[in-house]
Amino acid sequence: MTNFEDTSWKPHEECGVFGIYSKDGKEIPPAYACYNGLLALQHRGQESCGIAVNDSGVISYSKDMGLVSEVFSDSVLNRLGGQIALSHVRYSTSGDSVRENAQPLVMRYIKGTLAIAHNGNLTNAHELRRELEKNGCIFQTTIDSEVIAYMIARERVGAVSIEEAVFRAMQKVEGSFSLLVMSPQKLIAVRDPNGFRPLCMGKIGDDIVFASESCALDAVGAEFVRDVEPGELIAAGPSGLKYHYNKKPANRSLCVFEYIYFARTDSKIDGLGVYESRKEAGRLLARQSPVEADVVIGVPESGIDAAIGYSEESGIPYQKGIVKNSYIGRTFIKPTQLERERSVRIKLNALESEVRGKRVVLLDDSIVRGTTSGRIVSMLKDAGAKEVHLRISSPPFLWPCYYGTDIPTREDLIAVKHTVEEIAQMNYADSLAFLSLDNLPDMLKGKCSGYCDACFSGKYPTEIPQEMIDHRPQSYCTPIQRL
Ligand code: SF4
Repeated sequence: MTNFEDTSWKPHEECGVFGIYSKDGKEIPPAYACYNGLLALQHRGQESCGIAVNDSGVISYSKDMGLVSEVFSDSVLNRLGGQIALSHVRYSTSGDSVRENAQPLVMRYIKGTLAIAHNGNLTNAHELRRELEKNGCIFQTTIDSEVIAYMIARERVGAVSIEEAVFRAMQKVEGSFSLLVMSPQKLIAVRDPNGFRPLCMGKIGDDIVFASESCALDAVGAEFVRDVEPGELIAAGPSGLKYHYNKKPANRSLCVFEYIYFARTDSKIDGLGVYESRKEAGRLLARQSPVEADVVIGVPESGIDAAIGYSEESGIPYQKGIVKNSYIGRTFIKPTQLERERSVRIKLNALESEVRGKRVVLLDDSIVRGTTSGRIVSMLKDAGAKEVHLRISSPPFLWPCYYGTDIPTREDLIAVKHTVEEIAQMNYADSLAFLSLDNLPDMLKGKCSGYCDACFSGKYPTEIPQEMIDHRPQSYCTPIQRL
């Protein structure tokens, strides 16, 4: 989603969606399915969450700020009875971290009630919103998902079905969207023509399930059916499944950072396992940037998979060298720098017995501003590591993202201003290497037929409106800062 506040762009977020269509709601109560699905997608957003259910055409919902386990109790879930449901977890920046921006959005219009849950970021939302406002629309939230809702409602007036209205609206919005829409009778899943964000379909008996990642299907015992294709709309309704395909050709552009960091290790996206790709990144780094060392360790969680790959390829033993406190959230999705820094201090600790007196290869997934890696390297050296060689399983961040990832402007990206050697020194590392851009296709093992790497390469798969570029000044960017 994109956030609007005043008339300026606000930073972007990474979200998760989950929905279920059932004829009778008997296989698994839809609200409980959503609850379990959202727990599995919690890594995609920890600030707010919500579930909307449809009981024979009547849509009710519950949403609030907080983690899924904090927002939903048994008594709330028991009140959310019905046959169809959709749900959402959200990450946002501090200014927009408010209840009214929580999803699903539920709106009443001339044809009844609609609920929508959106992961992504529209690149023409500003323009569309301005046009809608000129025509008298009043917005309740500051997110671009509401623009989509208005577009669908407007198209529905002249369309024969809700899926036709959603399909028509999709021709007018640009950017990234993996979207679920619930009408009184149907659950509709749509993925943008480039397929920036993941979306997959599963089934439990006769019930149809859609989720941002396959780990959420596993969590509810659903069998994976397939990914929703870029530009595809799938509608689940009383007469079964209907499919519509966007006829406008677009390059497949799945966000490569889903594999590197966002997605859960046990998910499979567009035919490739996330764990497989992360391990491969480690293998490639071992070939690309070898170093003599005694032990390979990974920064939990996503650095561990790459560390295993590096170890397998190099023959240097893998050890658990850093212990993570699992009971606090990901620093990446904490909205303020202060919150992030506090989290780092209580999140990780070095295992002195595994690193003292050793030359360590430390695998991490990315360096953005460069402040966190230095703290981890120092922590290992304080624990007695003789040398620390930092290996990063992604190329350096050099460009902002306009498709829903909260990457700072160029002036805040450490790799824009400093050489690799300088970054190594600033992070107290004895050496540093990033996975090269050329290695990304190999990391994806030829299984991902098209991907976006614009934040590394500067090559954006779609045209970015000048207005969007102009409305992304530094002050509106919350840093992508991990750990
Ligand atoms: S610019 Fe980067 S973060 Fe954004 S969609 Fe492309 S690869 Fe993902």
